[in-house]
Amino acid sequence: MTLNQMQLDGPARPNGGACVPASPDSLKKISLVGATRSGLADACLSIGVPEREIKMRTAQLWHWIYFRGATSFDVMLNIGKGLRARLAESFSLARPEVVAEQISQDGTRKWLLRFPPTAENEKGAEVECVYIPESDRGTLCVSSQVGCTLTCTFCHTGTQNFVRNLSTAEIVAQLIVARERLGDFPGLTPPTDGLLPHPESRAVSNIVFMGMGEPLYNFENVRDAVDVLSDGEGLALSKRRITVSTAGVVPQIERLGAEASPMLAISLHAVRDDLRNKLVPLNKKYPLKDLLDACRGYPGLSNARRITFEYVMLKDINDSLAEARDLVRLLKGIPAKINLIPFNPWPGTPYECSDWERIEAFSEIIFNAGYASPVRTPRGRDILAACGQLKSETEKLRARARLVVDPA
Ligand code: SAH
Repeated sequence: MTLNQMQLDGPARPNGGACVPASPDSLKKISLVGATRSGLADACLSIGVPEREIKMRTAQLWHWIYFRGATSFDVMLNIGKGLRARLAESFSLARPEVVAEQISQDGTRKWLLRFPPTAENEKGAEVECVYIPESDRGTLCVSSQVGCTLTCTFCHTGTQNFVRNLSTAEIVAQLIVARERLGDFPGLTPPTDGLLPHPESRAVSNIVFMGMGEPLYNFENVRDAVDVLSDGEGLALSKRRITVSTAGVVPQIERLGAEASPMLAISLHAVRDDLRNKLVPLNKKYPLKDLLDACRGYPGLSNARRITFEYVMLKDINDSLAEARDLVRLLKGIPAKINLIPFNPWPGTPYECSDWERIEAFSEIIFNAGYASPVRTPRGRDILAACGQLKSETEKLRARARLVVDPA
């Protein structure tokens, strides 16, 4: 198997394994960071590790990469010197480059990551991920695609071009970088300059797929990433603390539960098809009834494993108290949590955020119907890290910076 053909992170892509033209970039060493177990096994096979050792070697690499956060093969002392050298000759443990790091006054951190081109993805990519510390948890919001094919009218990402899916490795690497930056691998020191959760909880205890992209349009890579993130011998995040958020790709919902079983979040935002068709155009393909049926059938659904319904509060669009009551009726019988999200405006948007009094009244109706209805306080607004603001703003700031430097 040549390096070009080797899949480090899951099943072959739909190009049928067609040969990627050899460019200098695609010949660069492949990083094993983010690889699945079968990816690591393939890597070992490709450098001549005998079949009978593959399981052991894979387990060793897994431990070093994901449990210890190793950045060099040299430290892997339970692997013989010769094999370590062969690994280092063909592979690296490179992380994506952190192009920018911003820390908000409230402790929210945003990283702009650059992924180099690889054999699998000739196009490099830049994505942002955001870390939100609270007293009892630390949540990492990860991206699953660069850009998005959906055109939700209130979401800034929807106004940008879709570039490509992220690979499994690129999704997993977002957590590796975050934990490294937060000093959360053995031997590292946590930073003292930001707010972190209580020392008894893990720095990153939760992951939400709520950054850029529609995770269910990148199903296999997201599924495999959930697998790597939740593996008990490595990064060991509980699947109950991994939430995949979808705008409602109905045919993939059951499959997500069956093949990955993370927690599910649905970007609902409207209680009537006519309005949802406008806000989340995907609704024209998969209307509310189908979406809610798929939710009822989500494998493992119970009062202990509820679906989160996200509802962005848009002034005079979806925020009447009648809609709050309809929302309660609509979700009847589904074990649910409801997250009201104040709309984060962006330049040129036709929408405004609902008034605070209205959000409170709306939330009261939901609360009285028996739901905890936390209003998700916008975090990291000073560093443009709120929902729907990822990457695009950084790009704009850069463009602005370029203008200042180069007025032409
Ligand atoms: N495509 C997936 C995940 C990405 S969006 C999905 O639709 O669920 C993550 C969440 O942020 C979604 O609930 C989305 O509706 C919300 N969101 C997007 N733009 C927003 C904005 N400007 N203000 C508030 N929430 C926004």
